Amino acid sequence: MFSLPEHIKKVHVYEPGKPEDELKRELGLREIVKLASNENPLGPSPAAVRAIIEDLKNLNRYPDGNSYYLKRALAKHLGVGIENLFVGLGSNEALDIISRAYLRPGLNAVYSEKSFAVYPIVVQLAGAEHKVVKVKDNYYMDLKAHLDAIDENTAVVFLANPNNPTGTAFSRTEFETFLKDFPDNVLLVLDEAYYEYAVGAGFDIENGVEYIHEKNIVVTRTFSKIYGLAGLRLGYAVAKKEIIDDMNRIRQPFNVTRPAQVGGVAALEDKMFIKHSQVVNEEGKKYLYEQFEKLGLPYVPTYANFILVKVGFPSREVFKRLLQKGVIVRAMDGYGFNDHIRVTVGTMRENIIFINKLKEVLEELKDESL
Ligand SMILES: *Cc1c(COP(=O)(O)O)cnc(C)c1O
Repeated sequence: MFSLPEHIKKVHVYEPGKPEDELKRELGLREIVKLASNENPLGPSPAAVRAIIEDLKNLNRYPDGNSYYLKRALAKHLGVGIENLFVGLGSNEALDIISRAYLRPGLNAVYSEKSFAVYPIVVQLAGAEHKVVKVKDNYYMDLKAHLDAIDENTAVVFLANPNNPTGTAFSRTEFETFLKDFPDNVLLVLDEAYYEYAVGAGFDIENGVEYIHEKNIVVTRTFSKIYGLAGLRLGYAVAKKEIIDDMNRIRQPFNVTRPAQVGGVAALEDKMFIKHSQVVNEEGKKYLYEQFEKLGLPYVPTYANFILVKVGFPSREVFKRLLQKGVIVRAMDGYGFNDHIRVTVGTMRENIIFINKLKEVLEELKDESL
């Protein structure tokens, strides 16, 4: 007799957007501007692309099950030991494995509302309970509330810094205050997917990697955002050896593909690309802030590569109308932001197109509501 466990029946299947080519055909548009998934608008790291092409002739061979060269490059990049590194299919695999390792029915995980959509999914898959903490002033992570929510059954706390979808961040000082009171018998997962963008903004963000021996902390980072390799599925986790050993027990033996391993090594060395991506993001932010101010739209200052903006009309409706005009953003009603959208900072050309189409949509909606 086979059946799905009740807690897994409750999982909502993630619904990805339509492929761009299909949208183009459907809408009869020449160009789609995709600013929905916080991808790097400059494309992938060119060095990574070259390294991947070079290695394609070896695709008949299994990848190195230990991702040795990639871990060696990461170890050097981060100043940690190889034994402190887990690499996986995006940082999402690390989040999933942490949940499978340390959560189970009877235990709970603490995380904030209006944060990364993957936390509730992996907690649900593990059959654990959810303790969802409120944000402060509609947008800001309440670190103290996370501490207050911890009880005798709490195994894991998830924290994203900077946070998605708000783009807010807490400082190194705030983090250190929080960490001082963080219990020794709970695992802190610090999701730093946008770390490089916060650094590019000149923000004094904690480097989670420096704290992995102080408490039980897993820092997760990704190649999906500033490295421009979302399609490759590559991410990593940094923690003390005992935690990494647990995670390696659970992963598949060949979880990271050959292209991901060689592409990751090359991308890490492509410092120019990262620098350029940071500069383009800062310029794009500045332009979008100015335009939002002109339009009288309140926005949340961001430390990542996307902006949460209050458009003042129903999120779904603005999303749909922008889509008809070939601009894809993210509707935010699912996060309780019923009149906000989230837009990824694009190239300057994409940002200008987005603003022009947004103006058209807002004019239409204003006219209709008269
Ligand atoms: C995009 C994102 C990730 C990245 O996930 P990958 O599996 O590495 O692509 C992780 N955390 C947050 C908060 C994100 O927004």
